[in-house]
Amino acid sequence: MYEWRSFENDMTSCHRCPRLVAWREEVARVKRRAYRDETYWGKPVPGFGDQNAHVLVIGLAPAAHGANRTGRMFTGDSSGSFLYAALHRAGFANQPTSSQRYDGLTLREVFISAVCRCAPPDNKPAPDEIAACRPFLEREIALLSDLRVVVALGRVAFDAALRHFAPAEDTTSRPVFGHAAAYPLVNGRWLVASYHPSRQNTQTGRLTEAMFDDIWVKVKSLLS
Ligand code: SF4
Repeated sequence: MYEWRSFENDMTSCHRCPRLVAWREEVARVKRRAYRDETYWGKPVPGFGDQNAHVLVIGLAPAAHGANRTGRMFTGDSSGSFLYAALHRAGFANQPTSSQRYDGLTLREVFISAVCRCAPPDNKPAPDEIAACRPFLEREIALLSDLRVVVALGRVAFDAALRHFAPAEDTTSRPVFGHAAAYPLVNGRWLVASYHPSRQNTQTGRLTEAMFDDIWVKVKSLLS
């Protein structure tokens, strides 16, 4: 408990990336009209979920008016609506919606994180910003001592997962990103790739509810 708190304190006070610090704070100051009466979080966003999780979900970065506003991963935007509805259908979440930090949402067996903790302009963190943020993901992974499955939402998260988790020794070819692809990792863990539930993917039909549900069915079968 103390380790988690100390970790979150370190992260939420981070100012390592000047471009992202300026952007997250400007968005929090200017706000979107629909949220003008709210106080934006405007800081790095910690991971969220079950601290004894067997499943780690890695996303890209907080959305400017989503997690950068609410202070909780995938909360208050369309990607989060898609993600938490699917987690609820799969039995990993107690409710299908995620609107704000204290809305009663709890996760079972799942912890949600991201490769970059600050909202980036155009949802695109630069490679040096992802590298600067990597120690936070690594510390979080170290605290999640009972991990068995890692779900990477999008190619950037997939590559970040492979920088941390080595493929199993008998895997002959390098894992390739593709929706619903699953690869064994060392220590009996698994890596599952998924398209990111961004509006760009869900509104174009590149990622449907059925396709996303397949991911969580696969995760459950890997856990069992
Ligand atoms: S992106 Fe990560 S390393 Fe960069 S300022 Fe935010 S928390 Fe710090």
